[in-house]
Amino acid sequence: MDSHPNGDISLSNGCISGLNIVNWAVKIAHSLGKAWIPRGSDLKLLYRAMSTATFAPAPPERFTIVQPKTTHTGAPIRPLPKGLPKTTQSLCPECSALIEARIREDRGRVVMEKSCPEHGAFRDVLSSDVRLYLKMEEWSFGDGRGVTNPTVVEAKRCPEDCGLCSMHTSHSGLANLDLTNRCNLTCPVCFANANTAGYVYEPSLDQVRGMLQTLRDEKPVAGRIVQFSGGEPTVYPQFLEALSAARELGFSHIQVATNGIRFAEPEFAQQAKEAGLHTLYLQFDGVTDDVYLRTRGRRLAELKSRAIENVRKAGMKICFVPTIVKGVNDHQVGDILRVALDNIDVVSAISYQPVAFTGRIARAELESKRFTLADFAHAVHRQTGICDPYEDWFPLACVTPFSKLLSALRGELTTHLSCHPQCSLGTYLFVSRSGEAVPVTRFADIGAMLCEMDALSRKVETQRIKMFSKISAWNVLRKHFHENRAPEGLTFNKFLQTLQGLTDKRYGRGESEQEGFTFKTLMVAGMHFMDHYNYDVERVKRCVIHYAAPDGRIYPFCAYNGGPTFRERIEKQYSTPLAEKQATLA
Ligand code: SF4
Ligand code: SF4
Repeated sequence: MDSHPNGDISLSNGCISGLNIVNWAVKIAHSLGKAWIPRGSDLKLLYRAMSTATFAPAPPERFTIVQPKTTHTGAPIRPLPKGLPKTTQSLCPECSALIEARIREDRGRVVMEKSCPEHGAFRDVLSSDVRLYLKMEEWSFGDGRGVTNPTVVEAKRCPEDCGLCSMHTSHSGLANLDLTNRCNLTCPVCFANANTAGYVYEPSLDQVRGMLQTLRDEKPVAGRIVQFSGGEPTVYPQFLEALSAARELGFSHIQVATNGIRFAEPEFAQQAKEAGLHTLYLQFDGVTDDVYLRTRGRRLAELKSRAIENVRKAGMKICFVPTIVKGVNDHQVGDILRVALDNIDVVSAISYQPVAFTGRIARAELESKRFTLADFAHAVHRQTGICDPYEDWFPLACVTPFSKLLSALRGELTTHLSCHPQCSLGTYLFVSRSGEAVPVTRFADIGAMLCEMDALSRKVETQRIKMFSKISAWNVLRKHFHENRAPEGLTFNKFLQTLQGLTDKRYGRGESEQEGFTFKTLMVAGMHFMDHYNYDVERVKRCVIHYAAPDGRIYPFCAYNGGPTFRERIEKQYSTPLAEKQATLA
């Protein structure tokens, strides 16, 4: 049975999943009757005529940013530096020394320039579109305050004093747990591979339980979403036991980052579902074998189709995860989205990931090969015509007003996705029965909704009678939902039910869609993990995607895999030489 006791702001499939204020709103809507039943053909005509309308983002002066001065444990927080040019701390790509970097506009792009006293000057493109870059940072509602029980209590240097430290401003939104560095593929773009490392990192099941417990012990917000990763986590001999352990420890959402090979076996998919798995974070680099040959060294298109079918039958969900490499598969960004729409009953999200250069790359090649989130937003627009780069995308962290309001109403802290605005962007597509996909921004004034939710969350903290606030939250949602612009059949009631489904997995994991309770949605997002060339300490300090490690620490993703690459240190410390492991497995 699926368990999702918390039902609050969550990352679904590594992406934004929404809010649970709607649980109350849904109840209020039901109690007020059927006032928002669609008006048949009139509505259809209106929708056809108006579906290209967009809402301009609310001007930033419409909201007050509440910026905490310190983390929970008293470390000062430097407010997010905005505008251009600006300076930040970065790393030397050669020696990893912490060095100052300047970020500035250059011919419509945003570039980072830095110089190491030993290794000279470096330059990288952070965004190919300054206008989109500036929009992202406008939509920031203030930082989080980290954890109350950091492992490193008097940290001074980021990212060296890691795991989690007193300076970190976010708690874990989604936590990864590597089960192995072995894999059943040898991908050229992989950063975790036993064959090239020469050792096997494979924690025992007891160590896995210990790491899960560390995540659950995080305070003031316990870890709720775990993703088993690797290597290929399904080759871990006790993979099913690890899933069950996560379920027993109370994780509300359990997912696996996988290449899908094992899920091409129907029995395995069914066993994983029964052990507690909710979602596959499925490597999905393209729709043709020429792409897979280049990114994964093997034809995989047909295998992915089989895995999708088996997951559908088992009743789980899939998030496609394309690693985008310029000149290799960036021309298939739109095709991937179309395959997701064709399988909307089982694919709930896509998390596009521009490749990070974890090895060395020639300086001349760097600018021509870099694919940024702005490139991604423009590619979606060019290749599908669905999303406008400036109107339909918002940074991941802009959902914090919803989570703040939820916290205030419930009187307890919930997960806040307080990452840096340049880390990720995303949008929700609502998909009609005929397969037409419409971004939520076309029929809901998301900007104004966020501003009012944020203001309301501050009011609620001081109010004693929370019921008025629940009605106010409902009013905010109602006011900014425009049914005459929504896809056919999407009433306000159905809109609320769908939002509820995104947070309460009892409604969001398939069955309710078949019953017509929710409307089908596709979360489309991009997250740009950092490498040494574009490293920004302001981003990693705010990271919400974490790793649990067997040393009892929790590391932000971009410190674990990029920058200081704690992965290498941890794996070496807890590994067995490859030959020795092969002998025991033989
Ligand atoms: S990345 Fe976060 S936890 Fe790590 S050193 Fe920096 S502030 Fe501390
Ligand atoms: S620091 Fe890296 S992993 Fe963390 S939120 Fe930003 S891009 Fe994602």
